[in-house]
Amino acid sequence: MNKFVGYRCSLCGEGYSPLEVTYTCPKDGGNLDVVLDYDALKNKYKPEDILSRSDPSLWRFLPLLPVQEPSRAATPLHVAGGTPVYRLRRLAARLGLQSLWLKDESRNPTASFKDRASAIVVARAQEISAEVVVTASTGNAGAALAGMAAAVGQRAIIFAPRSAPQAKVAQLLVFGAKVILVDGTYDDAFDLTVKAAEEFGWYCRNTGYNPFTAEGKKTAALEIWEWWEGAHEKWHEEVDADEDHVPLTIFVPVGDGNIISGLHKGFKDLYRLGWLPDVPRIIGVQAEGSAAISNAFHAGSEAIVPVSARTLADSISVDLPRDGVRAVRATKETGGTYVNVSDEEILQAIAELGTQGVFAEPAGAAAYAGLVKAAGSGVVGSEDPILVLNTGSGLKDVRAAMQAVQPAPIIEPTLEAVKQLL
Ligand SMILES: *Cc1c(COP(=O)(O)O)cnc(C)c1O
Ligand SMILES: [Zn+2]
Repeated sequence: MNKFVGYRCSLCGEGYSPLEVTYTCPKDGGNLDVVLDYDALKNKYKPEDILSRSDPSLWRFLPLLPVQEPSRAATPLHVAGGTPVYRLRRLAARLGLQSLWLKDESRNPTASFKDRASAIVVARAQEISAEVVVTASTGNAGAALAGMAAAVGQRAIIFAPRSAPQAKVAQLLVFGAKVILVDGTYDDAFDLTVKAAEEFGWYCRNTGYNPFTAEGKKTAALEIWEWWEGAHEKWHEEVDADEDHVPLTIFVPVGDGNIISGLHKGFKDLYRLGWLPDVPRIIGVQAEGSAAISNAFHAGSEAIVPVSARTLADSISVDLPRDGVRAVRATKETGGTYVNVSDEEILQAIAELGTQGVFAEPAGAAAYAGLVKAAGSGVVGSEDPILVLNTGSGLKDVRAAMQAVQPAPIIEPTLEAVKQLL
């Protein structure tokens, strides 16, 4: 069965066949949605067929992905996806919420959500026999591409801003990618990557620009669907909810807007297959100093006006978001909204998540910071079931982590000194 039938432009609606285009709409530069053969999929599969697959990684959803099964031998790093969901009872109580969970994407192989996109893009690169895959990255997308490429012996080139956190640059280098640090912003690196890919014939993974990134990211929505199918009945009994289907509310940190639009795409795919009655409510969280998508949403517009981004959350520091239009729609079409958080609120969130055993990088903690704000202002109710995404590991940016906590005291190695301290 040929499940991948083409693309549709998110701006003008024009359709393209799979080999007709590679990146964005030739007419207006709009990002392309991957179109699957929903009728054929519906005829061939039931949810049970997919949920009974034994592969715990994101490849368990292969029937709904626009790539063929990558050969086992060629792709040892098959563990992207399948990330755990934790119940955060103490933080829920502190916020006056009944039910709060966190999906920990820091548990992906290179420690961020980006592994989902890179797994699918590298599978696509192998299908189209690309020699080199290149990406612009604030660090995580590059680490994910470099790691996945290293695992399958694919050549990778990464353009990152020279200000990228050390740990992320170390990952790129250790994975053996060609790393080029750009004396400029992520946006500068992005534009340069597109030009270089064109000039040298490289396959470009750039977030949003490459339609397969959202397809990889949608696998988190498929996992959330599967998890909530199993969890919501138990939850119903526990809280004694009367309604049959109380939709989940999901908090997502937003930079380029590709994670949030990928999640939305995943839920829309499930809805079109008739497998999901209620699409969850999606709430995007942006850093105050990098809020171009939030600005557009609150202006009731899809016109994304670039900002001059300033935030310590480097993974969501973006002047011109590359998936802004679809990111606005992800909240508008699901009854969600956008919340902005300050760097201080992000640091506070790192510390609070830490008290429940979750170590998040600043961008990852931003989603929780957004929930704190939303709970305080009535955007979510105390009875709403809520899922927060942590998109990246705190080990990615230790400098920021140290800003979130008090420094440890240093003492003489004597019992006397310990007594004095306590
Ligand atoms: C990339 C990234 C984000 C934001 O994803 P976008 O698709 O750019 O909106 C959030 N958190 C982390 C850790 C990331 O690496
Ligand atoms: Zn178009």
